[in-house]
Amino acid sequence: MPKLSIQDLDLKGKRVFMRVDFNVPFVVGTTTISSDKRIRASLPSIKYALEQGAGLVLASHLGRPKGKPVPDMSLAPVAEKLAELLKMPVKFAPDCVGAEVEAMLPNPGEVLLLENLRFHAAEEKNDPAFAQQLAKLGDIYVNDAFGTAHRAHASTVGMIQFMPQAAAGLLMDKELQWLGKAISSPDRPCVALLGGAKVSDKIEVIQNLLKVVDTLLIGGAMAYTFFKAQGRPIGKSLVENDKLDLARELMAAAGDKLKLPVDTIVTAEFKASAPSEAVTAIPDDKEGVDIGPATIALYEGILKSAKTVIWNGPMGVFEMPPWDTGTVSLAKAVAESGAVSVVGGGDSEKAIKSAGVADKITHISTGGGASLEFLSGVELPGVAALTNK
Ligand code: AMP
Repeated sequence: MPKLSIQDLDLKGKRVFMRVDFNVPFVVGTTTISSDKRIRASLPSIKYALEQGAGLVLASHLGRPKGKPVPDMSLAPVAEKLAELLKMPVKFAPDCVGAEVEAMLPNPGEVLLLENLRFHAAEEKNDPAFAQQLAKLGDIYVNDAFGTAHRAHASTVGMIQFMPQAAAGLLMDKELQWLGKAISSPDRPCVALLGGAKVSDKIEVIQNLLKVVDTLLIGGAMAYTFFKAQGRPIGKSLVENDKLDLARELMAAAGDKLKLPVDTIVTAEFKASAPSEAVTAIPDDKEGVDIGPATIALYEGILKSAKTVIWNGPMGVFEMPPWDTGTVSLAKAVAESGAVSVVGGGDSEKAIKSAGVADKITHISTGGGASLEFLSGVELPGVAALTNK
């Protein structure tokens, strides 16, 4: 069911409560923001609401303060950064609920950022009384925090029952549009590329994608669990021994759709600049660290004819070059395929940036966990709670 968008609403003179994802990283031991990417991601919604004549109350969590105020996890530095990006004053409330906050509420054209929602344990407990207090701060609810839409918290779900309308922000809208198209009406052939450390993290994604895609390409350490399940040697590679039956079931259900690497880069020593080589059978004293050249060529060929590509997770230990070769080569192949490409997960995004092809990717999701749950076919609670169009 399509959800109401911020663009469907009359915002003039209204006070908009906007849930954003300002969970930014800091330079270790400081309050200097090391990446303002998440703040920038919601600027289109913030600017749109201001242009339409709304006053804005912005709410976010930051880190895991476990339900009590932790000065290092204050959103105060975010208010300063936001003011700089918007080139206008941003007021900062010392809390996210209560009389003091209510006295600071913004007029049309003004922005108020609330203190970290998770300084109250009631936020993650989705406590109705707390949700009601949050709801008092706005006339209209907008959720632009795709990255937390898989959590049913007071600010993402609970408060909506106390608001007349709840709409998706522009970022949320874009996420739902591209991820939604990829899994419900993809242009075909539709190819998924899945990597990363563990099969166990991605079981539901694999199961759901097998229903949707024409081909599922597996890379990363999760391939070795499939190898072992097939009786192929894996040496000292990472493996999940308790997932071998599951891997067999997935392979049986998938048939030809599921492709595994045909060669592997192996090393005797897991350390930077250790010698490594491509093999088709992993020797007992070595471990796999990347997909090999024959696999890269095989996967590139499949990606070339794809019309939709869904990608999550690296093909190898991409943090330690040259073992990023598989991941970076396929990032380039995805970009060059001309397919609608939807990428989730921080590692795949890093690989795309280091391959210099970010501008050729249709959509890079801002929500790691949320995008995985979405690809699993689960309706995200923060999305389900929004008003239907
Ligand atoms: P995930 O969070 O499940 O997407 O896994 C990402 C991690 O998987 C990265 O840190 C990679 O270094 C790691 N990884 C990918 N392939 C391998 C491999 N062949 N051996 C060990 N770790 C790997």
